[in-house]
Amino acid sequence: MAELTSNPLYSCRNCRNPLALSEDLLSKAFVGKSGPAYMFGHAMNVVLGQKEDKQLITGLFSICNLYCSKCGQDLGWKYVQAYDARQKFKEGRFILEKAKLLKEYC
Ligand SMILES: [Zn+2]
Repeated sequence: MAELTSNPLYSCRNCRNPLALSEDLLSKAFVGKSGPAYMFGHAMNVVLGQKEDKQLITGLFSICNLYCSKCGQDLGWKYVQAYDARQKFKEGRFILEKAKLLKEYC
């Protein structure tokens, strides 16, 4: 991989809609519904689904599903609220599944 290019961008694997910047990537250590997932501080061109409470591995959270604004593909979720104080840092963060992303260099 060419690590010399400076601004990699993560886009939708399905329609190449730009979704997140690599500088907003916070962690690669997450697990989504279909496998590895990344946590971002910001995401763009996404549509939020209905808010719901969900029991995840690390506790109970209020989350919204995330969809691509162009093709509607299910991408991951956004943490809206953490019920466990130790998980508060995840609030407002975006989880995008690696399998749904395409890394591009521009
Ligand atoms: Zn898409």
